[in-house]
Amino acid sequence: MKDQTKKRIEHVDILTMDQQNSCYQDGEIRISGDTIEYVGPRPGSPETRRPDGPAKEQQAADTAADRAEGDDTEVLDGRGMLALPGFVNAHCHVSMTLFRGYADNLSLWEWLSKRIWPLEDQLQPDDAYWLSLLGAAEMISAGVTTFSDMYLFMSETARAVSDCGMRAVLGRGLSGPDQDTERRHREVEDLYGWQKDPRGRIHMTIAPHAVYTCAPDYLKTCRQLAEKYQVGIHIHLCETEKEVADCVREYGKTPVKLLHDVGLLELPVTAAHCVHLTHEDMDLLDAHQVKVVHCPSSNMKLASGFAPVDDFLDRGMTVALGTDGAASNNNLSIWKEMSLASLIAKGHSGDAKALPAQKAMEMATIQGAKALMLEKEIGSLEPGKKADIQLIDFKKPHYFPREDPVVHLVYSGDSADVNTVMIDGQMVMKDRNLTTIDLDKVYREVERIAHRML
Ligand SMILES: [Zn+2]
Repeated sequence: MKDQTKKRIEHVDILTMDQQNSCYQDGEIRISGDTIEYVGPRPGSPETRRPDGPAKEQQAADTAADRAEGDDTEVLDGRGMLALPGFVNAHCHVSMTLFRGYADNLSLWEWLSKRIWPLEDQLQPDDAYWLSLLGAAEMISAGVTTFSDMYLFMSETARAVSDCGMRAVLGRGLSGPDQDTERRHREVEDLYGWQKDPRGRIHMTIAPHAVYTCAPDYLKTCRQLAEKYQVGIHIHLCETEKEVADCVREYGKTPVKLLHDVGLLELPVTAAHCVHLTHEDMDLLDAHQVKVVHCPSSNMKLASGFAPVDDFLDRGMTVALGTDGAASNNNLSIWKEMSLASLIAKGHSGDAKALPAQKAMEMATIQGAKALMLEKEIGSLEPGKKADIQLIDFKKPHYFPREDPVVHLVYSGDSADVNTVMIDGQMVMKDRNLTTIDLDKVYREVERIAHRML
């Protein structure tokens, strides 16, 4: 039976990230089961800044009538808090939490070939469960409610996601063809089983790793897989100069043109990085509505370069934010990515108007939802959407004096300000305490894995 438990967050400032960019002071959010029922002024509230919608008196009257029913609603006092949509981490490799701090000061190719790939061969399925839970704990603590992942043992990541209550879009990382291709495809089939979970929090993508690990014919196979399962594609694209130069040398075309020519761009594609592009590449990505995931920390740390984010935004393309794995970041905080995205765009272009805070916040929320094709469910606080909400402790020195809350959040905010997190209406962190993850147990298991492998 569908959970209809009711919750109400009262006296809370709200940043909805809806199309009108509605904000409320001393507002109220009502939740029924997994769904937001109402976002707006609180009955008797003197102040609202909502630009449209029904008159606030009518809304307030509806609220009062509802309240009079004498319900058993769980009430949260939101005084001093700011509610905003849970963040979307649109490109991650969550089990790579194992390699956090393990391989610094290397370029992408050295990092992968010398340090990461040899160790990944020793990973066991059960390891991925605990490493995923570690990453999930870190993300929930930082207000991330949905993430998109590409890696090994994704059914174990799906199990961790299911257990901790997060929302995720998961893709078994694919490369080849080689002797392991069939096994990987069986893992895709297993992962598809998780997508049928009736709670609907787990989605699947087909995730060819990159053009340098997938032969052109195999990319066509990936296209067929995506068509078979009726899902989109998640891929690394044009991350480094070397990737582009090798592709041009081997196939006589850029990675974007290669994806186009094998027909992959006909499907919904979410492409991570997109750092090194020609004008023709940009036109192709734009024309095929490819969603870009910008990963500024990873691009800086691996010295991959500066993605032309402002150009994507000028074209009206969907641009989300991703942390990439913890081995190349080294954390899973979208707060840092928001701030860096804006600062790097300004510093690199010499234009102080580049990528303002509002855009960065959109990339972390509604644009992230669009990149994962989940914008009907998440990404903003609106009636009918899933109750994926973070409450920020807004009574901190770095949030005063009270100016534009978005500017404060993007440039002054920090993961540690996230006080309470709800996903699908379920409280997964309350007053900074995780409710679905036994952190001490996760730490013990992760230390055991690290001791064995590193
Ligand atoms: Zn990546």
